[in-house]
Amino acid sequence: MYCQNCGFKNEEGAAFCGNCGTNLKVKTTIVYPNETAGSNEKYNGMAIAGFVLGIVNIWFGAVFVVGVIGLILSIMGNNQIKLNGGKGKGLAVAGIVINIITLSLYLLIYLLVFGIAGCAACGLMYL
Ligand SMILES: [Zn+2]
Repeated sequence: MYCQNCGFKNEEGAAFCGNCGTNLKVKTTIVYPNETAGSNEKYNGMAIAGFVLGIVNIWFGAVFVVGVIGLILSIMGNNQIKLNGGKGKGLAVAGIVINIITLSLYLLIYLLVFGIAGCAACGLMYL
């Protein structure tokens, strides 16, 4: 039988999960759909944060880390909405798109700047 909590494959008839210790005799999943319905009215905080960081990154894209964190938050927010429901799916998707575009643009700018600087330093040897 598989653990309802972590999906670990346990021996048939085992009382507790060998991986996470969940009591396998107690059914815990029935409560889940009700909780999902309740949380559907809430906006996902990670989706909002990722989107805001994406907007910030358009203006302050030189701070590369902000874009990377924004992208990660957007992806995590999107996954959470998929799993648990909740509002903010549009924000999460927009955050992912904005962050990827700005990161790519600034990466290109960095490559150009450092590429040109590198060539100047080596006396145009690699041109
Ligand atoms: Zn488990």
